[in-house]
Amino acid sequence: MELLTEDTVPEDALEVKREAREFADEHVRPNAEEYFESGEYPWDVLEAGMDAGLIAQDIPEEYGGRGLELHEILAIAEEFFRADGGIALTLQLASFGAEILLEYGDEEQKEEYLRPVAENEQITGLAVSESQSGSDLAGMQTRAEKVERAGGHAGDEWVLDGEKYWIGNGVEADWVTVYARTGDDEDNRYGNHSLFIVPTDADGYEAEHIPEKMAMRASKQARIEFDGVRIPEENLIGFEGAGFMMLAEFFNFGRVVVGGHGLGLAAAAIEEGWEFVHDREAFGRGVNEFQAVQHSLADMRTEFESARSLVWRAADKVHAEENAGLWAAMAKTKATETAREVAEDAMQLHGGRSVLSERRIARVYRDVRIPVVYEGANEIQRNLIYRQS
Ligand SMILES: Cc1cc2nc3c(=O)[nH]c(=O)nc-3n(C[C@H](O)[C@H](O)[C@H](O)COP(=O)(O)OP(=O)(O)OC[C@H]3O[C@@H](n4cnc5c(N)ncnc54)[C@H](O)[C@@H]3O)c2cc1C
Repeated sequence: MELLTEDTVPEDALEVKREAREFADEHVRPNAEEYFESGEYPWDVLEAGMDAGLIAQDIPEEYGGRGLELHEILAIAEEFFRADGGIALTLQLASFGAEILLEYGDEEQKEEYLRPVAENEQITGLAVSESQSGSDLAGMQTRAEKVERAGGHAGDEWVLDGEKYWIGNGVEADWVTVYARTGDDEDNRYGNHSLFIVPTDADGYEAEHIPEKMAMRASKQARIEFDGVRIPEENLIGFEGAGFMMLAEFFNFGRVVVGGHGLGLAAAAIEEGWEFVHDREAFGRGVNEFQAVQHSLADMRTEFESARSLVWRAADKVHAEENAGLWAAMAKTKATETAREVAEDAMQLHGGRSVLSERRIARVYRDVRIPVVYEGANEIQRNLIYRQS
């Protein structure tokens, strides 16, 4: 059964969708079980993805990338996540945070930091969440203070102190985009944070992997400590106090892509459920012959198609900047919850074999727990949907 059909995908994203399918079949799916077991960072798959021109390529040609648009990145997400959630997250996060620099950075920043990412010489991360605060973006405590440059040099620099948690590539990245507090105005909670480019080899930057996860194990997150990290004033992205606004806009793009995470995982779950019941017998019949089983598969398919229609519609809306926040939040919520629900149903169709850890369905079942939380928990998405309706 083909679920990630081409008919939903716009013409200009079809070529990259096919490239992503071929790459996922050859490099992602065959390595999924091994990396899930080991919990290692899949460097070899990432490098193969770079060679295939599928990593960090939303950066435009003028900075060394392919300039892939939202629809193309979404098409890649569906294909990669169908093949494996953990490896897919690593592949898609190699340029996480770089998109903000593309939108708001100045020319010098883009040449110095964006180009090496587009040319696959460096990878990045986006450091927003903290151990005490994930959903409340305006409550983050990591602080950046502007001081005179040390050693009598002209100009100012920023000094960062605090802690970030859950940061993809916090250990592996060459630089991370850091969201830090630069003000304390209680009457303007959304104007108190700024974004900075922080090289991970800066003095005072310490990162360690967080404890092993039960899902998406081929992706690695870190706890980062900033202990008096000094960066030049030129590393501020956009302008002081605009961090929340820039992040909110970036999340519109990101949440549609996370909709693609949900669709890929949902497709994997349905495929597994379908195949299993067509191969299994009970009471002298194929399990697929029971009407209850057929209805379960019919419901899964219907939910999948409605989620997919919504996500691709949201991609159009976000691309056209038409009430983007609303559509991105609806797409993320619907697709990630569809993935969670169909994975649960597909597990039931597998009977006892559902819990064998070597099974693809068992991996998918664990992976679907994550996209309902990252890029903003779905409760936060619902708040946004209500407010923007
Ligand atoms: C695998 C993984 C990768 C991640 N990668 C990154 C990354 O690269 N960079 C990064 O910055 N972060 C990353 N995160 C962090 C992620 O964005 C946060 O986990 C998420 O925003 C939720 O924050 P929290 O875990 O602190 O939950 P909390 O904010 O503590 O919320 C806990 C729960 O409380 C409920 N809740 C909270 N607020 C509300 C509300 N207003 N209304 C209703 N219910 C509410 C929700 O059920 C929520 O799930 C990652 C997380 C995971 C699991």
